[in-house]
Amino acid sequence: MTVYNFCAGPAMLPPEVMKKAQQEFLDWQNLGVSVMEVSHRSAPFLAMVKECEASLRRLMNISDEFEVLFMHGGGRGQFAAVPLNLHLDDAPGIYIENGIWSNGATIEGAKFTNVEGINIRSDKDGFFDIKPVSQWPLPSNASFIHYCPNETIDGIQIFDVPKHPNAPIVADMSSVILSREINVDDFDIIYAGAQKNIGPSGLCIVIVRKALLEREGLPRPSILDYAIEAKLGSMYNTPPTFAWYLAAEVFKHLEATGGVKAMEKHNETKAAILYDYIDKSDFYSNKVAKHCRSLMNVPFWLKDDSLNDAFLKQAEKSGLVALEGHRLVGGMRASIYNAMPIDGIEALVTFMDKFAKEHS
Ligand SMILES: *Cc1c(COP(=O)(O)O)cnc(C)c1O
Repeated sequence: MTVYNFCAGPAMLPPEVMKKAQQEFLDWQNLGVSVMEVSHRSAPFLAMVKECEASLRRLMNISDEFEVLFMHGGGRGQFAAVPLNLHLDDAPGIYIENGIWSNGATIEGAKFTNVEGINIRSDKDGFFDIKPVSQWPLPSNASFIHYCPNETIDGIQIFDVPKHPNAPIVADMSSVILSREINVDDFDIIYAGAQKNIGPSGLCIVIVRKALLEREGLPRPSILDYAIEAKLGSMYNTPPTFAWYLAAEVFKHLEATGGVKAMEKHNETKAAILYDYIDKSDFYSNKVAKHCRSLMNVPFWLKDDSLNDAFLKQAEKSGLVALEGHRLVGGMRASIYNAMPIDGIEALVTFMDKFAKEHS
């Protein structure tokens, strides 16, 4: 039976990449040892790392104005790194809040710097909605503007990018990076924990405008210092080498299959099939306003909560795993990242329809 894994993260990876990793697990590049067993400073590893960055730069069209860092500590590590590196004495860090992850970033940021949270979310009549970017009340004095373009748990996506005349725009793209085309120049820092669209956990991609490396910020651990990591090629200490290698393979695979543009189409198609089905059904519902529905994480609720356990059990028997919603929002959630094929969505919709008919 084919199993489709809808886990929010660590998430499904492209089967082709997993097979290649398996084949070369014990003997990488004919070295007779695994990629996990070689020095991060050895020539073959450094060559891999160089090509990995070049590949990501091609995929996202990242200019020389930016450094690309491969850091530790996942997305949450950056919740601390951003205020530590970008703090200014006389300007607050602005945090746009529209869900569980952006709130988490605010709470962590407040440990280090002056923060100002701006709520852009309004839940009316049981519907999650957000203010369009043009209506966000951004103050003129800010050390940075932090926001989360895709709220993984709430299923809310922001498609426009905020603008500010002088404060850097920082985006937590952990669950949305490489899923659609963006203009990197619209941002100043993009960061993303790897375990959704990139590879295994343990690695975090940070794309940072070089000019920001000059900021003094606050005293901070070297391991979270952008300027130090940039200077040392993300090797201040031993990096998560296996995660880095696998990310390189995922990038290679994405380039070979049409890049981000093709992926965007693929993701739109997948999300449309699922949302269309949910909208037509009177057994399932999605509570997010249509203009800000996530293309990556689709939360949905059964009309009758008491059927949740039966739904999850039968789904698992049909090879559809990890559909349980986050404990904070309840219901179900299908995470349909880049690696999820259309077949997986079709299998899910077929199952949902069968379950609804049996329980109506
Ligand atoms: C998963 C996720 C994170 C946290 O990632 P960790 O690597 O566990 O720290 C942060 N932000 C968003 C939006 C996420 O989806």
